[in-house]
Amino acid sequence: MVTLENLTVSYRQHPALHHISGCFAPGSLTAVIGPNGSGKSTLLKSIMGMLQPAGGRVQLDPPRARVAYLAQLTEIDRSFPMSVRDCVQLGCWSVVGAWGRVTPALLLRVDAAIHQVGLEGFENRAVGSLSSGQLQRVLFARLMVQEADLILLDEPFNAMDSRTTAALLALVHLWHEQGRTVIAVLHDDAQVREHFPQTLLLARELVAWGDTAQVLTEPCLQRARALAEAWDDNADICHTDEAPRTRPLARQQL
Ligand code: ADP
Ligand code: MG
Repeated sequence: MVTLENLTVSYRQHPALHHISGCFAPGSLTAVIGPNGSGKSTLLKSIMGMLQPAGGRVQLDPPRARVAYLAQLTEIDRSFPMSVRDCVQLGCWSVVGAWGRVTPALLLRVDAAIHQVGLEGFENRAVGSLSSGQLQRVLFARLMVQEADLILLDEPFNAMDSRTTAALLALVHLWHEQGRTVIAVLHDDAQVREHFPQTLLLARELVAWGDTAQVLTEPCLQRARALAEAWDDNADICHTDEAPRTRPLARQQL
């Protein structure tokens, strides 16, 4: 489904991900964890094709149109004037394209998704007027409408209350049962143990990747912490990589 082959991604020649290799199996449900700045968001953006590798590559089985990506809430521009229904309807983009018509069947799918995330009655509300939890529900509804084979979630439960987290986790389980591949950046070890069978532990390099019980061990976590403590933000430029080819990161538009 997704294969990382010796993947290195750099910002101005400073590697944020270094020589990562491995594979996300089709239908797997994986948590990506690691200290702050360990390259978790960089990994998702690289899989999404938003960042070009400095070395190695990401091999994707589904075409990019079948991949859905939810950025960290802090990277999302909430000021865009748009209703909840219009925002969820954007999930139909991969089916209808820029000029295609949203069919009545697709509109039903949009309304069903809004209902499923518990936002019935909010269809005409401006997204800018929603709480963080409500906005995250809208963005999950948009993911549902996309019907993607591969779903990438960057800290989807950050700053969510327990009720919202439970509702969104239920949707993640539903996607897993439907055979979709889900990769989520998370922080809460207990949540990872309970809900995510596979875990990838990053500290700019790969610390461990496999069954969660085998990855979330004290030696692995300790190694990740030790690597993070040794990071020097003024570290030497990595000369082993090709010149960086990062694209500017646009703010995520709704
Ligand atoms: P995480 O999501 O694990 O917190 P990131 O992938 O966001 O980590 O960042 C990894 C490293 O790359 C950090 O040191 C961060 O400062 C750096 N970084 C991330 N984005 C950029 C950017 N656009 N330009 C320069 N450095 C960046
Ligand atoms: Mg991040």
